[in-house]
Amino acid sequence: MDSASLNAIDAVVGNDHAVISADDGNVVATVQEALCNGRSATFYISSIQAAAVKSWYWTPRRIKERGMEPVSREERYRIESDLGIRDIGTSYSNRIRCECGSVYGAFEFIQQGIREHGKDAVDAALDLTNAYILRVNPATDPVCASCQERILVGHEYDMAARYGCCRSE
Ligand SMILES: [Zn+2]
Repeated sequence: MDSASLNAIDAVVGNDHAVISADDGNVVATVQEALCNGRSATFYISSIQAAAVKSWYWTPRRIKERGMEPVSREERYRIESDLGIRDIGTSYSNRIRCECGSVYGAFEFIQQGIREHGKDAVDAALDLTNAYILRVNPATDPVCASCQERILVGHEYDMAARYGCCRSE
C-alpha cells in the first residue's frame, strides 16, 4: 500500500473507524456474516464487491417480499427540484407506510439524510467514484416526515449504484 493510502487510512482510523483489507471473496463473506448474524455495520466496498453481495442478497423472491421497485422518473425529478440533489440516476427503493398513513420512499429517505447529515454529506455519498456504501442492518430507523415518528418496518434502497442497505429481516 502506498503512503497516500496509508495516510488516508490513518485519518479514517483517527475518527474511530476501522479499515479492513482482504481479497474480494473474504470481504463478501464478512458482509454476509454480519448480515446473517444481525450485526449492524457499514461497509465501504468496491463496486465489484458490492455487485457480488447484491446479486446474492437481491433474489427475485426478496425483491418481491420487500417491495423493491425502480425509483420513478417523477420521484427522481422531485428529489432534484425539491431537495436540490443532482439526479440520482438508476435507483431502487421500497415504499413503506407509517402508521399515520404517510408513505416513506426514496424522496423521504434522502430528505431525512439531508436533515440528519446535511446536503453536502448526501451529495458526497451519491458522488463517490470508487466506493459503494453498504449499510447492513442499519441501526437508525426511518423517521416519518409527516408525524416525526420512527417507522419500524425496514426501508430498503440501492441508490445511484453507490449507496444501499441489506437487512436480516
Ligand atoms: Zn407518520
